[in-house]
Amino acid sequence: MKKITIAIDGYSSTGKSTLAKQLAKELGYVYIDTGAMYRAVTFFAMQKGLIKADYFDQEGLIEALDQIQLEFQYNAVRGFAEIHLNQKNVEEAIRTLEVSSFVSQVAQISEVRKKLVEQQQSFGRSKGVVMDGRDIGTVVFPDAELKIFMTASPEVRARRRFDELVAKSQKVTFEEVYQNVVERDRIDTSREDSPLVKAVDAIEFDNTTVDKEAQFLQILELAKQVLAKQ
Ligand code: C5P
Repeated sequence: MKKITIAIDGYSSTGKSTLAKQLAKELGYVYIDTGAMYRAVTFFAMQKGLIKADYFDQEGLIEALDQIQLEFQYNAVRGFAEIHLNQKNVEEAIRTLEVSSFVSQVAQISEVRKKLVEQQQSFGRSKGVVMDGRDIGTVVFPDAELKIFMTASPEVRARRRFDELVAKSQKVTFEEVYQNVVERDRIDTSREDSPLVKAVDAIEFDNTTVDKEAQFLQILELAKQVLAKQ
């Protein structure tokens, strides 16, 4: 059967990655978490001292971009591909609130986006890919056969992210997480290069109150309908 590309965009903590992983597993497709790529670049910048509270050496990061090598390696135990930065697994290290607090500033830089988008497009060349992010249906794969756009209220998203961080023993307050969610929404939707916006042909799902399993089944059904027409 012919394979398709599935683009999942939307606000942070709307369950995009859980949905994308489930779809990829069900269809036997590759899942690519593009947020992890922007987070890994941010983590690199933090390690090099290029970004701190109230300080960001953008030019320094642009110059250092050639030193950044990103790869996804499948982890059979976890059932998805984990991100590696310069041969080191950083899948967990990039999930802190500190990385979240800097990532949208890094993702605004056109040189960073250009490098990552090229790599994302090369991952998707042979189709059979579920990719989640902010600009997948608009910029990375404007011709994707199925485009989903996820939303949920900021309170519900912050609560989910807060619970995840607490489960990983990170010391954060709900207020900090809520502020981060709102601030990232603001930067991601207002940046000049590839802002977060729903593609005209994307199908929108709000999961503020909806059961996620029911939503997954509904989207899987959509994917099957698109596949049947190929
Ligand atoms: O998906 P996640 O919340 O991990 O993404 C982290 C950040 O990376 C987003 O808030 C956004 O600033 C950036 N991002 C992006 N374009 C993508 C994926 C993520 O700008 N395709």
